[in-house]
Amino acid sequence: MSETFDSALVWLRRDLRCSDNVALHHALRCARKVWCGFIFDRDILDELPRDDRRVGFIHASLQTLHRQLQQLGASAGTPGVGLITRHGQACDEVAGLAAALGVQAVFVNHDDDPAALRRDAQVGQALRQIGVALRSHQDHVIFERSQILTARGQPMRVFTPYKNAWLKALTPQALQDHPIACYANRLAPLPPQVTAPLPRLAELGFNATPIRAPGLAPGSDNAQRLLSEFLRRIDDYAALRDRPACVGPSELSVHLRFGTISIRALARAAWQRMSETAKAGSGSGTGSPAGASASVASPAAAAGAATWLSELVWRDFYHQILHHHPHVVQFCFKPECDRIEWDQGADAHARFEAWCRGQTGYPLVDAAMAQINQTGHMHNRLRMVVASFLVKDLGLDWRWGERYFAQHLNDYDLAANNGGWQWAASTGCDAQPWFRIFNPVLQSQKFDAQGAFIRRYVPALAALPDDALHAPWAARPMDLISAGVVLGRDYPRPVVDHGAARLRTLARYQAALGAAPSATEAAD
Ligand code: FAD
Repeated sequence: MSETFDSALVWLRRDLRCSDNVALHHALRCARKVWCGFIFDRDILDELPRDDRRVGFIHASLQTLHRQLQQLGASAGTPGVGLITRHGQACDEVAGLAAALGVQAVFVNHDDDPAALRRDAQVGQALRQIGVALRSHQDHVIFERSQILTARGQPMRVFTPYKNAWLKALTPQALQDHPIACYANRLAPLPPQVTAPLPRLAELGFNATPIRAPGLAPGSDNAQRLLSEFLRRIDDYAALRDRPACVGPSELSVHLRFGTISIRALARAAWQRMSETAKAGSGSGTGSPAGASASVASPAAAAGAATWLSELVWRDFYHQILHHHPHVVQFCFKPECDRIEWDQGADAHARFEAWCRGQTGYPLVDAAMAQINQTGHMHNRLRMVVASFLVKDLGLDWRWGERYFAQHLNDYDLAANNGGWQWAASTGCDAQPWFRIFNPVLQSQKFDAQGAFIRRYVPALAALPDDALHAPWAARPMDLISAGVVLGRDYPRPVVDHGAARLRTLARYQAALGAAPSATEAAD
């Protein structure tokens, strides 16, 4: 251990847990007395609508964290341990708290969003002025910044080689747990001058918004429950992940976003299941791991954990893209794509409104938009479908959709959201080729064949037969009549014709980027 401090403050941000938390672990190892604090940052909160679900999630997760810190303290014989919260500007509050506690160091985990880096630079300066050190650790991803580079030391832009290098670099050390409980005797009781109860949501200026999204039960204990439940069905992940009507994905993204679960715990679980299925597949094991559903690992089951780990690698991939190419926040990753001329004007805004409200006349798109509007969540397959639809059917700038997702997604994460939008718009690194245009009807027939998802979110169409559900404008008149659907009254007619929109999009991209390769629309 290189440094020691008499006392330290851990400033929690997107790491709202007290297990396997790298900053907390190091603070406890380096300092004799440690406090934990969270700032309700006005610079972030003042921009949000008053019923933002994410604030409620954070607030409830902090209650859990406070309780867990109390328990850790009590287990070490220290009553009065807990979480300190403040409401104000991060810079003032962190420096003020550090001074009030008299600590020598503030420990944080890296937050690589450009705005967070600017904030942390200011906080670091304010702390330096009062003689307090700022120590920052890697926690949020498995590999970050420049840890995975090409052989020539360049950042990687293509996912598959990145993933191969990521897997090659993976060591037990990268996945190791950072224990907290064994150092719990260093958690210090809250001194009277900083003790204040967690403010109520209303005191922060927010309404309690009913939580209806899967995965949104807050706090690290709920994250653990969700993970355990997912590990019982991880073998089915590859087979079910693209079917929005099924419980396929983990729905852990909001917990990853706010750090109520450790990414290392997830990657360890995936890796363990991959090893078990590999052993079972080669006949050298029983293949009946604790928690997993299949007793014998079929090739499909073995694909489950590997595919899920791959998704976790995408998360790291987009974080390093944002780190190395911060221009993506405003511009296309590929500069030549900034030449693309998106539709503007009243018609474009009317089409955008229809998309936001789930009134495009394309049932899968509208069901997906109803899902995000009602719950703050959207299935991954549907994020790809609605993003492609906004850009390549409606002819709108991907940034409009990106902003809408940023406002509404519970799991909104700048790196993943920007990466996902630029992938769909074909403006990003390793993106969907621009001439490949999802057909929203084929996507619907393929991934929601029986229409269970559409019926759940677009009840006006529920009585239509399966084959009519994906394109109601093409339904037999008798099917519409018996389902009680009048197009234009109960459900909108399509705002654009997909075939015509596709041709306009090909021309739009071609004008900016030059001739398309001979391939055009695959059967997407
Ligand atoms: P699972 O399928 O169980 O995957 C496990 C975890 O892997 C996820 O929780 C997530 O952290 C990560 N992950 C999965 N897919 C991706 C991906 N393509 N890129 C990066 N990480 C991934 N994800 C966000 O976390 N926040 C966003 O703001 C976000 N915006 C997106 C916007 C668009 C247009 C698209 C196409 C994708 C976006 N994603 C975003 C990625 C993905 O849709 C979600 O991570 C996923 O749907 C979350 O559900 P889950 O936890 O059940 O995922």
